Amino acid sequence: MKVTDHLRNANGKTLFSIEILPPLKGKGMTDIYKAIDPLIEFKPSFIDVTYHREEYVYKKRNDGLLEKKSVRKRPGTVGICAGIMTKYNVDAVPHIICGGFSKDETENALIDLSFLGIDNVLLLRGDSIKSEGSFKPEPNGNAYALDLVEQVVNMNRGVYLDDELEDVSSTNFCIGIAGYPEKHFEAPNLKTDLKYLKAKVDAGADYIVTQMFYDNSKYFEFVDLCRENGINVPIIPGIKIMTTKKQLNILPSVFHIDIPDALAEAVEKAKTSDQVKEIGVEWAIQQCKELVAAKVPCLHFYTMGNPDTCKRVAEKVL
Ligand code: FAD
Repeated sequence: MKVTDHLRNANGKTLFSIEILPPLKGKGMTDIYKAIDPLIEFKPSFIDVTYHREEYVYKKRNDGLLEKKSVRKRPGTVGICAGIMTKYNVDAVPHIICGGFSKDETENALIDLSFLGIDNVLLLRGDSIKSEGSFKPEPNGNAYALDLVEQVVNMNRGVYLDDELEDVSSTNFCIGIAGYPEKHFEAPNLKTDLKYLKAKVDAGADYIVTQMFYDNSKYFEFVDLCRENGINVPIIPGIKIMTTKKQLNILPSVFHIDIPDALAEAVEKAKTSDQVKEIGVEWAIQQCKELVAAKVPCLHFYTMGNPDTCKRVAEKVL
């Protein structure tokens, strides 16, 4: 079932969903089950699976020279989605990114998803790889998530890259996209970022999932601004429970978000890692209670390999 159908059928009740990461290469599906099993009792409406593009490493050859090699540390998004749908009978949402793919490769991946009965996708640009200063699309690849939305919408209309195909079937993808309450880090300002967000929605995106935030007022202001700017699709808040002291610096530097003073001070003062987890869980509970009271469409948890803290929050708010 499509994410938008889940939201419609909820009749105003706040749904629960999670995002998981594919395991590191060499690990099996057991790691995925360990990430999902503790949360299945809360009946997630859908489970997102992230996509991780290649990285470049230098390996020493026998002749002593260095060889540049492309490695993918977390492959398997499509297979994991099919596995989740079979084992749990829960809709899976694979993340599809522009980076590292030509439009042809993307089309082929979308055809595979369609054959597997996966009709949800979250469409993203992806970030630059470490060796690049800024994001660079592949030759004949999509440069922005907007281009990817247009490609999927075309396929939903039966328009493939090869316009000589005859008697084609249309795909039937429900399209999610990303939104940033605290602005995407490359955008000169929030107004410009919203202009491009609206372009994705006008092109056919069905709903937005936000970047994580720790101050609900950022989300509420973002939703108001979206509505004022004619963005009327559901906006699902993304929640990440803080679990370590290091995240006080890592989360702002990786995700370009602010940590409110009160949370930062409390985590700073914590003496043990268990105390940090307590603070993170309590903060998320308060955040989620306020979001549920505001009737947000769904609470979407970035579990990042930590289902137990997510379970503790879910127990208190769902
Ligand atoms: P876009 O919408 O393309 O925007 C990128 C930047 O370009 C923005 O600053 C925007 O304002 C600007 N822009 C957009 N369109 C145009 C245009 N036409 N002309 C000029 N400027 C434009 N990354 C992964 O690699 N894998 C994942 O699985 C993944 N999952 C994510 C899930 C969520 C919910 C979120 C919020 C992010 C996720 N990301 C993931 C990270 C994401 O790929 C990065 O944040 C990336 O830098 C931007 O992606 P986007 O889809 O928002 O890009």
